[in-house]
Amino acid sequence: MSPKRLHLRMKGVAASPGIAIGQVYILTGNIVKVEQRDIDALQVQAEVEKFKTALELTKNDLTRIQSKAKSKMGKEGDKLFDVYRLLLEDVSIIDETIERIKNEKKNADYIYYSVMIKFQEMLEAATDEYFVGRVADIRDVKQRVIRHIQGEKHSFMLQIDDKAVIVARELTPLDTVQLDRSKVLAFATDVGGKTSHAAIMAQSLQIPSVVGLKNISTMVQTGDTVIVNGKAGEVIINPTDDELTYYHQAQAKIKSLREKLETVVKLPCRTVDGKDIELAANIEFPGDMEAVKRYGARGIGLFRTEYQYLAKAELPTEEEQYKEYYSIAEQMHPDTVIIRTLDIGGDKKPKFIDIPEEDNPFLGLRAIRYCLDNPAVFKSQLRAILRASVLGNIKILLPMISCMDEVMRAKAIINEVKRDLRNEGISFDESIGYGAMIEVPSAAIIADLIAKEVEFLSIGTNDLIQYTLAVDRGNEHISYLYNNYALAVLRLIQKVINAGHEQGVWVGMCGEMAADPKMTMLLVGMGLDELSVTPSILPEIKTIIRSISLKETRHIAEKVFKQTSSRDAEKFITKVTQKRFSDFI
Ligand code: PEP
Ligand code: MG
Repeated sequence: MSPKRLHLRMKGVAASPGIAIGQVYILTGNIVKVEQRDIDALQVQAEVEKFKTALELTKNDLTRIQSKAKSKMGKEGDKLFDVYRLLLEDVSIIDETIERIKNEKKNADYIYYSVMIKFQEMLEAATDEYFVGRVADIRDVKQRVIRHIQGEKHSFMLQIDDKAVIVARELTPLDTVQLDRSKVLAFATDVGGKTSHAAIMAQSLQIPSVVGLKNISTMVQTGDTVIVNGKAGEVIINPTDDELTYYHQAQAKIKSLREKLETVVKLPCRTVDGKDIELAANIEFPGDMEAVKRYGARGIGLFRTEYQYLAKAELPTEEEQYKEYYSIAEQMHPDTVIIRTLDIGGDKKPKFIDIPEEDNPFLGLRAIRYCLDNPAVFKSQLRAILRASVLGNIKILLPMISCMDEVMRAKAIINEVKRDLRNEGISFDESIGYGAMIEVPSAAIIADLIAKEVEFLSIGTNDLIQYTLAVDRGNEHISYLYNNYALAVLRLIQKVINAGHEQGVWVGMCGEMAADPKMTMLLVGMGLDELSVTPSILPEIKTIIRSISLKETRHIAEKVFKQTSSRDAEKFITKVTQKRFSDFI
């Protein structure tokens, strides 16, 4: 008889809507894939050296991590690192690995993996709690060493044969881009917040996701059945028959509602009293263009260009970037494509780019700061964007602007690149427009000054919320503080819209707030000119806009600004929107 499986409902943070039902596939730690390869006698020594170097590099990593973790973990932390060191210095493991590389003539990562798995299984079978507790340490050390042997060039996916629900402690944006999406039904992770970049990528990939489940990766086993309800932020492990029936029906309902909503795809995005709102799409991957077309976006309001950097083992060339930008501009023509310059740093760290270890990466060398610090990388991307602009429908968007100096320096570099192209006789759109993202409170406060220097402002609420409220957008422990209704954030947004309009520039929003159907009436009432959202939500947002009047939205905005707490603002907005759009809010 098979063992009884755990039945459990777990609540986390709703990160990407949709319902998925499927079997679990657990990814422990970051994802490393090990393949067995034969090597010839001449390669043996090199493989042994790779293994030895990887051990040293892992020790160095540990020393660095330990010194950082010291204040947080105290003596317990020291004990943990002692165990790690013992594992790295264990003579029997080292000798066995080297001997087997020599005898079996196989690649070092594969041999080390199989030695460690044997060791791991021995401990798993132990009755002593202490030893069983060490299994996770072995797993972690093993992954770290293997990553170094592989030269940090992960080749991730995956031994999944059928589609599965991926359960992991954490998925980084790097992990997410490297997953084979045709195999992934849903994500459920221990850590993460609603607007962490991995969650945004899941939305872009239209994969239902719940993050911040705290310990789901230890509660499930590969092969368990789970239901992931990405909208409610709930996961049911080993559901009952009744639950399965209910959620199969819910899936069918969502499907038919979507079909109904999609009837607006070709219709204008206009309020009943005639106000046009630009409704554009956010994209991350070239593959997103299929959804952009399907859901009828009027242009791309945010092209996050980091994907090209994260997906590769080395810096993309100017030519590669140019081809991708040109192809997207061509597909969207004559509608606008807003290409955001590189926003790496924070939680997006391509392997090959040398960003120093930082205590606070989200406050560190990120986005425009990185680009201004690395003009060669910046210029290569700008050249690619400008060359692709010949069709006349591209605009440039500068991320994480926090002061005027950054705007002026970025503009100077853009002008320099334009001059170079002119000198080389390469054509581009001479009147290409550029805008600034307003996602740092200091930029929101001086939005009037920034607006004088650009053609448009685009509000990035994902970061604006995190930086205004001092709430890490990826931290599940404080996700209750991260909310769209914070009065401070709403006031800042209103200030930016007014400042932009006073300077005669249009103001859009490309953060996740724009994609929250509950917020649509309020945002229209506050005067936004453009909303840019993940493609699959376009029909919902357009359906709302097409059934409201500008007049009533202004009235709603006025009322929201009279509330004295974010909770009251949320209550009011929820009441108003649910009354009107009970089907999908
Ligand atoms: C934002 O911060 O709102 C935004 C759109 O940028 P990203 O999510 O890529 O940081
Ligand atoms: Mg941002």
